[in-house]
Amino acid sequence: MKHVIVGNGAAGTTAAELIRSKDPAAAVTLITDEPYALYNRVALPRYIKSLVPEDKVVMRSPAQFTAAGIRFLPESRVAGVSVQEHTVLLDPGGELPWDRLLIATGGRPNPLAVPGGNAPNVHNFQTLNESKAILSDLSHARSGVTVGGSFIAYELTEGFRHHDVDTTWLIRGPRWLRRILDADGGRLVDHIAREHGVHMVYGEEVAEVTVKDGLAVGVTTTAGRSLPCDLVGVGLGLTMNIDFLAGSGIATHRGVLTDRFLRTSVPDVFAAGDVAEFDDVVLGRHNMMGTWDNALAHGRVAAVNMMGGEAPYVDVPTYQSGLFDTIISVLGMTPENHPDLESVGAVDVAARTCRKLFFLGDRLVGAVLIGSIRGKRLLMDMIRSGTPVPISERRALLDAR
Ligand SMILES: Cc1cc2nc3c(=O)[nH]c(=O)nc-3n(C[C@H](O)[C@H](O)[C@H](O)COP(=O)(O)OP(=O)(O)OC[C@H]3O[C@@H](n4cnc5c(N)ncnc54)[C@H](O)[C@@H]3O)c2cc1C
Repeated sequence: MKHVIVGNGAAGTTAAELIRSKDPAAAVTLITDEPYALYNRVALPRYIKSLVPEDKVVMRSPAQFTAAGIRFLPESRVAGVSVQEHTVLLDPGGELPWDRLLIATGGRPNPLAVPGGNAPNVHNFQTLNESKAILSDLSHARSGVTVGGSFIAYELTEGFRHHDVDTTWLIRGPRWLRRILDADGGRLVDHIAREHGVHMVYGEEVAEVTVKDGLAVGVTTTAGRSLPCDLVGVGLGLTMNIDFLAGSGIATHRGVLTDRFLRTSVPDVFAAGDVAEFDDVVLGRHNMMGTWDNALAHGRVAAVNMMGGEAPYVDVPTYQSGLFDTIISVLGMTPENHPDLESVGAVDVAARTCRKLFFLGDRLVGAVLIGSIRGKRLLMDMIRSGTPVPISERRALLDAR
């Protein structure tokens, strides 16, 4: 059986290794357009703070793949898929046949699409190479601008401040994570960021990057504000890597549509990780979740099903991250991807906590907890079990322990 896996992140690598360990006769090819074997994207924020070296970020070597019997093709882009011929088209050149195909291509960061936005010291933050370039610029930067209301924009801002770079954070909307937090939650995060020396600016975007001698030296905002800087960090969201599937017949929406078994609309073709828009059994609708644990779990489920099994993906995706000197935990579904969810929330600025719960009909389907993860286990259990919560009892759940 020939298994071809496109994308060597947490999802693709997990699937490749599991297939080879369960079926030593299987031919497994793992393809990536990056130059590296698996590395830990979650460790990149610590890497740009110089808290972990590169060799602790990298998790696999090409030699380990060879030893595991996995054919590894770095710096190779899959440019197209033929479901009739059962082949993928490689760039540069060549075709590869498959019996089972896994699409685990994740997303790519949206660029800063303004004049000057492609200067070499204007950085996205998704890959190890981008992180190396950021770290190199941070070593001599005195001032920086970060852009966006996303988790990545926050990670960049924290990274810049860690190096004592005077940092202005531009957020187009009224607050960070504007679809998830309400005004009070936004005020709390604003307060925490300012305590860490960040200059916060809302309601303005970058209109232009000023470039001198080939490098960005400042940005001008849509409100005419001029901000001199030595580097720019951009966190404007991800576009899923599905372009190469155009015309293939594999159904896509924001990502690759799958059922609960991570099977796509085409037999023998599967999708996993960030790029999979999967039928979420626990939450009862299609869902996407850009988290490391979700990618690992998807990789395992996809591998089982590519080998002929019938395992559904049944889990509540979670995400936990530092937030300057506190933490943020995200469980299940949020209005980021599902704007129709109802919510209740409570913020205590003095205690530096924010709790927000999300409901679909009478079910708790997600939560965001800042500052304290008290009650997380109970909330996870309730999301998993789908226990009905009458409207009159929603607020009481904010005190879950
Ligand atoms: C800076 C940063 C911090 C993060 N922090 C956290 C965190 O704290 N907690 C958490 O849970 N998650 C975090 N995440 C998210 C998490 O890292 C991702 O959800 C996870 O790594 C996704 O894995 P994946 O296997 O689905 O895809 P990816 O890791 O994106 O891998 C996909 C690979 O496929 C390649 N590819 C794409 N198209 C093609 C093609 N046509 N041909 C060949 N190769 C292709 C891509 O270049 C890439 O190498 C963070 C992400 C970043 C960038």
